[in-house]
Amino acid sequence: MFLRELKQPVESLRNVGPALASKLGRLGIGTIAELLTHYPRDYEDRSAFVPLSRFTDKNPVHTLAQVVAHEWFGYGAMRTLKIRVRDESSEAVLLCFNRPFLEKSLPLGSRILIHGKFQFRYGEIQSSAFEAEVHREGSDPLPGLLPLYSLTGGLTQTALRKLIRRALEMYGRRVENELSPELIAARALMAKAEALRAIHFPSSEAEKSLARTSLAYEELFHFQLGIALRIQARKLQSVERKPIQGILGRRLLERLPFSLTPDQSKVLEEIQADMDRPQPMARLLQGDVGSGKTIVALLAALRAVERGSQVAIMAPTELLARQHAATAAKLLEPLGIRLAFLTGNVDDAFRPPLLKALSSGEVDIVLGTHALFSPDVLYRNLRLVVIDEQHRFGVAQRGALYKKGDIPDLLMMTATPIPRSLALTLFGDLAVSSIRSLPPGRRPVITHLAKEGNEAKVYKFVDSLVSQGRQAFFVYPLIEESEKAELKNVQNMAAFLAKKIYPRYTLGLLHSRLKEDEKREVMDAFIEGKIQILVATSLIEVGVDIPNAAVMVIEHAERFGLSALHQLRGRIGRSGHQSYCFLVYSKEIGEEAVQRLKALYSSTDGFALAEEDLKIRGPGELLGTAQSGALRLLIADPLRDFELLKSARAEAFSLVKEDPSLLFPAHEVYRRIIENKATPREP
Ligand code: ADP
Ligand code: MG
Repeated sequence: MFLRELKQPVESLRNVGPALASKLGRLGIGTIAELLTHYPRDYEDRSAFVPLSRFTDKNPVHTLAQVVAHEWFGYGAMRTLKIRVRDESSEAVLLCFNRPFLEKSLPLGSRILIHGKFQFRYGEIQSSAFEAEVHREGSDPLPGLLPLYSLTGGLTQTALRKLIRRALEMYGRRVENELSPELIAARALMAKAEALRAIHFPSSEAEKSLARTSLAYEELFHFQLGIALRIQARKLQSVERKPIQGILGRRLLERLPFSLTPDQSKVLEEIQADMDRPQPMARLLQGDVGSGKTIVALLAALRAVERGSQVAIMAPTELLARQHAATAAKLLEPLGIRLAFLTGNVDDAFRPPLLKALSSGEVDIVLGTHALFSPDVLYRNLRLVVIDEQHRFGVAQRGALYKKGDIPDLLMMTATPIPRSLALTLFGDLAVSSIRSLPPGRRPVITHLAKEGNEAKVYKFVDSLVSQGRQAFFVYPLIEESEKAELKNVQNMAAFLAKKIYPRYTLGLLHSRLKEDEKREVMDAFIEGKIQILVATSLIEVGVDIPNAAVMVIEHAERFGLSALHQLRGRIGRSGHQSYCFLVYSKEIGEEAVQRLKALYSSTDGFALAEEDLKIRGPGELLGTAQSGALRLLIADPLRDFELLKSARAEAFSLVKEDPSLLFPAHEVYRRIIENKATPREP
């Protein structure tokens, strides 16, 4: 049986009742399979004795000792037991805070096994954080590496170890390999049952590491196999591509006030080549904030329109969708392209005719938000789906729009570049195009860090820029006052800045709780320059393009994530004007936040920042949001296991290539895996 098929409830183990089961449930453990894949987060080394006299900060004591005295100190509720012990090296003291019961379980004269951190204090070798038990003759005082698990209230390491050991004894041997025998042999991996035992109870460091590699490799291999199969399935699809001359695109390029950067031209060629092939396109376009992805998407759209197809361009916020619609109207309507704009807030009266126009093919390009995949929205022949700021959408949402189409081409765009290790994991079936350079004439934003208390200087600097005709953003983490945190909020700060700091300028307020038409009014006024200073939440994080805005002040900058800050900062520096970003941070700032602000201060390169972000946060969070349940990585870490990932990918792809019928007569295991595992369908 495959490991994940061990669906027996944990209660099927001896001594597991409802109370214990519910504690396990809090760890996400309901079945035997989930128990056995609750892999250790670390290990404790008990493979050698460390006598009492040889403790260090890093090296805990592990020794057999004699109980020589029970002493008590303190009074009443504070009365505390002190157990004096001696091994061959020294005498020491165990301080039993809140553990008076140790008087009975570690009786005078008994030989006990002690494990714990010791310190030298008050002339004695002491420990208050120790484990100790009477040593039973015949039991091994050197059990080697012991697993350490993540726990929940009321569960101890010892209890969980026992449980997992029991589960391994009862079910472990039945676990079958999920890699072919050839592959296991070729890579000298452990058999699955063996790896499973060894990951929990390794007999040596080397065994532990081989077990980990074996399990991680299997995971990565299956992940990549799913990806390889999806690519294969796509290759078997075929789309009719009418030959075209690219007239519409050329006409747009002629009308642009600028020419494409070399990187823009390069990615456009890659996209166009995809769109001329019989297989549907599946491409991720990554380019830093302000690198000019929108125009590339519009040029791709024109290629589809020239073939008589429909295009849907989806953005995560109404603000951004509206901005794209305005850009498209300016650039494409003169070419005779029929555009539509669809969001959840379209007037009831307009919606039916709009939907009808879409379904009858009277619209060439529709721009909008999540509303684009509402159940009642039907397309006539949707052949290109563009998803802007794709990381803001879930797999299901991207899929929902994709399914509205007729084997559509897919172009996903992101300004949050994904490090290669993650890209191969999350987007392993997408081709990737990157725009690395910014349009000419841009000057990198100058970033300053300012500690809370120095705002006056910052406000004054902003004043000087605004008086020269530039516009400014102020960003705050909260919309209104909150009881929990003493944070500045947009509402109070907008009033304060307008009254006390900038009485001669016009200020606007923008946050998610305003009505859509209020948001639009404010935004339009800012675009037209009627508002000089926009006070906002991170609502403006994605997309918004206002070249005259040249300064941004982010207060409580420590509250924002690295990629959010980078995106926010990307709202300025979009013209030839030198732009400035002020990150104002509070006194109470954590270590990770310091790292984030430092990274931001020293780099404006989104690719470098993405790598940095991954280092600071680890891949868990990034993967977590994007992974689907069926293929969650439990032990592999794409970053740490990058080499393993690359070879798993190569081997999975060559396996699929060997037998593109998708049925592997030579690899019975994979056929079974594929048959009983729904591979998630990322469009
Ligand atoms: P992003 O990649 O962040 O979506 P946009 O597509 O919004 O960036 O482009 C940012 C700004 O740069 C827009 O004002 C756009 O008109 C401008 N732009 C795009 N390409 C070029 C270019 N080749 N030369 C000059 N300006 C450009
Ligand atoms: Mg954009």
